[in-house]
Amino acid sequence: MEQRTGFDTLAVRAGQQRTNEREQGEPIFATSSYVFRSAAEAAAVFSGECSGNIYSRFTNPTVRTFEQRLAALEGGERCVATASGMSAILSCCLALLDGGEHIVSSRAIFGSITVLFNDHLRRFGIETSYVAPSDLDAWERAIRPGTRLLFVETPSNPLAEVADIGALAELAHAHDCLLVVDNCFCTPALQRPLDMGADVVIHSATKYIDGQGRAIGGAVVGRDAQMEKVYGFLRTAGPCMSPFNAWIFLKGLETLRLRMEAHSANALGLARWLEQHPAVGRVYYTGLPTHPQHELAARQQRAFGGVLAFDLIGGKEASWRLIDSTRLLSITANLGDTKSTITHPATTTHGRLTPEMRASAGIGDGLVRIAVGLEDLDDIKADLEPGLAAALK
Ligand SMILES: *Cc1c(COP(=O)(O)O)cnc(C)c1O
Repeated sequence: MEQRTGFDTLAVRAGQQRTNEREQGEPIFATSSYVFRSAAEAAAVFSGECSGNIYSRFTNPTVRTFEQRLAALEGGERCVATASGMSAILSCCLALLDGGEHIVSSRAIFGSITVLFNDHLRRFGIETSYVAPSDLDAWERAIRPGTRLLFVETPSNPLAEVADIGALAELAHAHDCLLVVDNCFCTPALQRPLDMGADVVIHSATKYIDGQGRAIGGAVVGRDAQMEKVYGFLRTAGPCMSPFNAWIFLKGLETLRLRMEAHSANALGLARWLEQHPAVGRVYYTGLPTHPQHELAARQQRAFGGVLAFDLIGGKEASWRLIDSTRLLSITANLGDTKSTITHPATTTHGRLTPEMRASAGIGDGLVRIAVGLEDLDDIKADLEPGLAAALK
């Protein structure tokens, strides 16, 4: 039997092509355009008769290496790298949908994607209906004749609701729809949606793929037929990834599995500790056996990821006090960094929602989210302890 190359080997090696300089690492091709040996060669490459690089909005070797490596890790036929996670979802929608078609989306998705769907795609006649990610019947009821795309992020942010990717893929295909999964929180190191039947994976490479807070980027991964359309849109519209950023993300992919396991171990340790703390109400983390979808998460993920949230019994005042009492954690809504971050969703990431919408989404005033980094777990706990103790007074 042929030995299939393992994830770790692909993470380090996939897509690399050495130049004549015999470099050990991946070169950064900092060039906007490429030259031809003759007018005839230029004509042949432009006409598509011969393959070759023309212009870095179309192709760039460093970006291509990143695309091949991420495609290998997700188990997809092809990857198209983009300037950001947002341009990944935008390119995906504009390439795969026509005006008048319809999206069914989880209501618990990244905030800017909701704005993209509601304020921008709607102007071109693409409407979106929202459902709870784990309510399979609601997904089915929301599908209508023009529906072409189901969109989900799992586990959700910040409340860690889990969608059943295999069941959603079946539902999508029964209705001639594509299932698109935002795999930013798990990355292919923990979850491979394409293996479970999803058609397209999108990424914000800005988060765990970089993993060290240095660059903005994104990617779309899937089958050749769909990716050719996404690529066609991208090479014309232009939200391409820079070669410098592609190089950073390549380095990120090489340590992705190790980092995701370390983030997950720290987050699980912190979740268990918080769950026992008298100042804390509910802890939202799929790794806890008390999580209502723990078994589903354990089935479709290799570990539970680095993000958790919890309700502080003292409400907004106590949660702001906790956040302000930290000295080690960074107060920022970003995530996917080696440095732990702490945020108050109700007044930041979810601040634009009306109080009613927040309540129906389960975002309470006492909710605190931590994207657990790679510091020592004991130091993270020690940083939180005084603020939690103060919340009890
Ligand atoms: C950050 C994020 C995005 C958007 O990515 P950008 O790189 O910021 O454009 C999309 N989805 C999720 C889940 C994210 O966390």
